[in-house]
Amino acid sequence: MNRITLPQALDRLERAFGPAEPPAVTDPWEAVLWENVVYLADDERRSQAFETLKQTVGIAPEAIAGASDATLRAVAALGSMPDLRAERLRECAETVLRECDGDLDGSLDAAGAQAGRILKQFPSIGDPGAEKILLFSGRSAILALESNGLRVLIRLGFADEQPSYAATYRRVLSAVSDELTLETAWLIRAHQLLRRHGRDVCRRTRRACIRCPLEPDCPASEL
Ligand code: SF4
Repeated sequence: MNRITLPQALDRLERAFGPAEPPAVTDPWEAVLWENVVYLADDERRSQAFETLKQTVGIAPEAIAGASDATLRAVAALGSMPDLRAERLRECAETVLRECDGDLDGSLDAAGAQAGRILKQFPSIGDPGAEKILLFSGRSAILALESNGLRVLIRLGFADEQPSYAATYRRVLSAVSDELTLETAWLIRAHQLLRRHGRDVCRRTRRACIRCPLEPDCPASEL
């Protein structure tokens, strides 16, 4: 079976399920808080928690650093392990105040090619998360897959799973590199279409191959 190309897969996903949703947040500081506000929550609960944070505390670093433990815990209670998440929110605020003088945007602009290093100082932000924030904020032209999109491309045969998530991520990005259009809008569309497909259809368990438009070209189809 010849492997489907990434542009073909994306067009098919778009025709079947509609255009990609825009990213929930694009501002880097908001993205750091978005990742940290709850643990193991779906998009809806994450969005609820983020709105609760905005309304009850605000998202200014000083406001979060000065909020009580109980207030931050109440925000994080929409997901799992609220005590830990409350600590993480405070750690985010203290990090941006200490390392960036409260201005993450300005620090990323000043850092240029080293911007990823700044982002990885925050809790829950590794290489994939940093690359996603840089893509969504228009600073970097890299596909920046998250776990759902990565799973889709593995099942489609772009690369085999490696012993670690980091190695798998790099292997898939390398395999797909010749098929990318290096424009931010194209890459965000690709990221979002793959993410949605992995979240809704090509799920980690109970994948719905029967309604997948990629099924005729998928070596991992369960049909
Ligand atoms: S056919 Fe099944 S395994 Fe393959 S991409 Fe579609 S949902 Fe995933």
